[in-house]
Amino acid sequence: MTNRKRKRGWHFRKEFVAGCIIIVLLTIAIFVASAFKTAQRKQTKTPAPLDNIASHTEEEKTTLPPQTVPVASIANPTVSDDDKVIYLTFDDGPTANTKNILDVLDRYGIKATFFVIHTYDGCEAQIKEIYDRGQQLALHSYTHDYSIYRSMDTYFDDLNKISDLVYNATGYRSMLVRFPGGTSNTISRDYCDGIMSALAEELPRRGYQYFDWDWDSTDASGNRRDVDVIVDNATDAIDYGDNHVILLMHDAAAKTTTVEALPQIIEAYRDAGYRFDVLSLTSYTYHHNPNN
Ligand SMILES: [Zn+2]
Repeated sequence: MTNRKRKRGWHFRKEFVAGCIIIVLLTIAIFVASAFKTAQRKQTKTPAPLDNIASHTEEEKTTLPPQTVPVASIANPTVSDDDKVIYLTFDDGPTANTKNILDVLDRYGIKATFFVIHTYDGCEAQIKEIYDRGQQLALHSYTHDYSIYRSMDTYFDDLNKISDLVYNATGYRSMLVRFPGGTSNTISRDYCDGIMSALAEELPRRGYQYFDWDWDSTDASGNRRDVDVIVDNATDAIDYGDNHVILLMHDAAAKTTTVEALPQIIEAYRDAGYRFDVLSLTSYTYHHNPNN
């Protein structure tokens, strides 16, 4: 009896010790797994070197950002003050010029951000090409008609349409936005007073980040703007000493001089020691003040 008791006690202690060991091992396994996941997440947030961002990861394709993200978590610039970086951006494509722009970017082995619109039925194929060639896809508008600013609902109806078009073409859900006319546009006032201020607050609330520009190539001020003028305006930031440049350019069928100016713009920034990067939820951003 005493022996059995002792034996049962011994068995109980053995089971207890074994249970403890299993719990400790499980805890260690969970800790290691979560540390590994965190390290992986950190790795994807760190800006990749240029030759490493040529293809999009599966995670990037399938992980949809949450619809509600506090502003603080996306206002997380990954560039330091003295880090010289330029973000080339092209609005209003895809068009007959897109392929030429992509070819120039490929020739220099650099990446840019394309804020696309629905330019024509079937433009999905070109949008997919932008994506497949490793460039950053971002949302500009479906219609690019200022009547989208009539209300919050009309704005998001339009944004959802271009978002779905990009998603259906590529499997990638872009959360990067540029307002037609920029945040500081004054035309939207004619449709709805205060709409830009409201949208500037609402987009981050829904998980989007929006981007204006701090330098304008001025290629929109006429169809065939002189190449030298575009280059001068596009590279002014270098003389000015601006280390973080979001440069506005356009991908419009008639704007062939933008493509002609592009190699000189790229070389000027490259020679001045800038690196080329794409805009993202964690990149540097620049916001104009709403003007309504
Ligand atoms: Zn535009």
